[in-house]
Amino acid sequence: MAEVDLTSVGKVYPDGTRAVTDLNLHIADGEFLVLVGPSGCGKTTALRMVAGLEDISEGEVVIGGRVVNRVPARDRDVAMVFQSYALYPHLSVRDNIGFGLSLRKMPKAEIRAKVDRAAEILGLTEHLGRKPRNLSGGQRQRVAMGRAIVREPQAFLMDEPLSNLDAKLRVQMRAEIARLQRDLGVTTIYVTHDQTEAMTLGDRVAVMKKGELQQVAPPQELYDRPANLFVAGFIGSPAMNLLKGVLTGDAENPRLEIGARTLTLPPSVLTERPALASYLGRDVVVGVRPEDMEDAELTEAPEGTRLEAAADLVEAMGSDVLVHFAVEAAPVVTEDTKELARDAGADVPGGAREERTEIVARFSPRTRV
Ligand code: ATP
Repeated sequence: MAEVDLTSVGKVYPDGTRAVTDLNLHIADGEFLVLVGPSGCGKTTALRMVAGLEDISEGEVVIGGRVVNRVPARDRDVAMVFQSYALYPHLSVRDNIGFGLSLRKMPKAEIRAKVDRAAEILGLTEHLGRKPRNLSGGQRQRVAMGRAIVREPQAFLMDEPLSNLDAKLRVQMRAEIARLQRDLGVTTIYVTHDQTEAMTLGDRVAVMKKGELQQVAPPQELYDRPANLFVAGFIGSPAMNLLKGVLTGDAENPRLEIGARTLTLPPSVLTERPALASYLGRDVVVGVRPEDMEDAELTEAPEGTRLEAAADLVEAMGSDVLVHFAVEAAPVVTEDTKELARDAGADVPGGAREERTEIVARFSPRTRV
């Protein structure tokens, strides 16, 4: 096991495309770090540079104290798990799992013992004689994991390993990967575009956009204290409500003007972050999580904190109900307020009433300006 360090790492492809810029990451021994971001943000490229599958254009990658920039992939002592699993169709599960060890001319009895152990951990023992085509998607994924495990690498590098599975299996395998990584304690870098996967798996999550790192932090911190608008909008489902307005009033009585409406903000919005005082009189974006938007009637919210809005869509999701509103043309989503949903027309099949409902933004420490 090992620490992995990326220092000022950059990648420019031969055709001139810049995929990664000045990436700095320290992954601790045994840590599970998730690289997440939208398609094309450079996360796969970053992982492949650590794996040795792409040249490093700038900066340095260090694995277990050794600079690996010029070390070929096979000598980096890392195990990669791909989205496609990359299994050999003509080999049995046993031979697929043991393939890397055979290449290294490990004695057969030793390979057998290691493969048996990995198969037991992964629940594959009874399938060892089968060919990949006779396995389910989840089992194939486990074989790919098995191949990584038997190598006892310094680090696991995983590139969207769950994206070929259906939604239910993905959730199940996600839990299995989390358990496995915790039990084995192997340093892991995991790439995904799925923020739920990132939040549930990562000890820390690194959010990338257009080749640049936006923030790296434990999941809860990303959720509660996003570093910028991009992270605020990317992390969380349903996404954070972003209300555009002008910050007015003064430090004791801050207000937010959204179009023709004026909302009273709690002074803590400014006192907790003094830097915001310089934004008085300027355009701001206020972020409020959907679970912090409430029914104004139910919470007996005072005047001046209410937003009147027409619900334009109600989505019942079993445990939660999402209500979509339009506030000055900006979409706003609330969560978890069944009464509000009923008021807004949840009992009308497929739709919302034209009535206007009052909602209130609960400005909490989690509110971002
Ligand atoms: P995805 O989730 O879609 O795989 P990603 O975040 O993993 O996206 P990368 O695959 O790392 O992103 O790609 C980052 C950028 O580099 C993209 O603009 C992509 O088009 C570009 N790119 C990737 N591979 C090459 C290549 N071999 N040559 C030129 N440009 C490339």
